[in-house]
Amino acid sequence: MAEASAALLYPKTCAATFSCRQCRHSAQVVFHDPDAFAEDEPIGGRSRWMQEAAMEQALRKLHDKSKKALSLVPCPKCGGIDEPARRQAYLRAALPLLAVVPVMLPTLTMLFGVVAVANRVQAALLALAVTGALATLVVLWGQRRLVGDARRSVRFS
Ligand SMILES: [Zn+2]
Repeated sequence: MAEASAALLYPKTCAATFSCRQCRHSAQVVFHDPDAFAEDEPIGGRSRWMQEAAMEQALRKLHDKSKKALSLVPCPKCGGIDEPARRQAYLRAALPLLAVVPVMLPTLTMLFGVVAVANRVQAALLALAVTGALATLVVLWGQRRLVGDARRSVRFS
């Protein structure tokens, strides 16, 4: 009975298997959730059943995360990287920009048209240049963070 009343805590780590596509090396790793809070966080829910369901979902999410992170980590044996997986992850990092650019571009164009002495065409070109530069910076930053997070969160045993 005492066991049943103990609070379930959100999982922060999970075991996973790294396998290299290039040299077929495989290793057991521990994945640490980079988004987990430092303190233990109890799973809420009115009944034990609901808590267990939430726990299962959290574990599944953690497992998906570990899979994504593992694909961004270089092989400890041959140093190889799963290029298609990395490209895919980079693309995911860039996707949020698709929502921002259509808003940012006309806003900047208007702003430059008002603030700068530029005419409409110049303002539009300036806005395009600034949007392009910012987008590139954000994408590069996002990619660096993605790879950095992945490498920090995977521990080879
Ligand atoms: Zn390898």
